[in-house]
Amino acid sequence: MVKINRTPKPDDIVITSDEHYRNGPAHDIIRNDFNNKCYICECKSNSMEIEHRNPDKSLRYCWDNLFYACRHCNSIKGTSYADIIDCTIIDPEEHIELSLELFPSEMVAISQQNGSCLSIGSTLELLRLVYGGAKTKVQIAGFESMLAEIKEELVKLQEAMIMYLDNNTDQSRKEVAKEIILKLIDKNAKYAAIKRTIIRSVGTYKNEFGQYL
Ligand SMILES: [Zn+2]
Repeated sequence: MVKINRTPKPDDIVITSDEHYRNGPAHDIIRNDFNNKCYICECKSNSMEIEHRNPDKSLRYCWDNLFYACRHCNSIKGTSYADIIDCTIIDPEEHIELSLELFPSEMVAISQQNGSCLSIGSTLELLRLVYGGAKTKVQIAGFESMLAEIKEELVKLQEAMIMYLDNNTDQSRKEVAKEIILKLIDKNAKYAAIKRTIIRSVGTYKNEFGQYL
């Protein structure tokens, strides 16, 4: 999860039915605000949906309650987790740390950031379900393809970092590597939170790229 900058509801947008946010101009604004990726797992899939962060029926057509999520996360969240972090208000990176662990088995580790005092138990629980803790076969398959994509992103980051930090890399290739790295760690990128954790936790990476987080 990363911080999302939500556009205030334009005066000419009216939402009084599901159709209005599913197919109307509201949908395009929300998709764009959320960088076309799921606010929960940060994937960019073909099966994206408008999701209601708070499932309370009275908030169904409330602009600030419309979020952009993938089917995998929406199906796991269902009508629960009404009190998960509102990433359009709170910066999740100040409170949640995501990292990929390889041993004893591959998993996305989710923990509360040191120094965070926010009550985020339900957000951590939902993220743990989304990133591999869910039990149905469809959900497990959803996570397996997500894990493959996360590893692919991390390999790209690793390769670009090696090129960037290698003393034998000439200046123009170094610039290319830097551009790749900046795109990969941008909040708009898929699975940005995990990659940004890596930048914060590796000294040399932080020295070079911490300023861009
Ligand atoms: Zn998702």
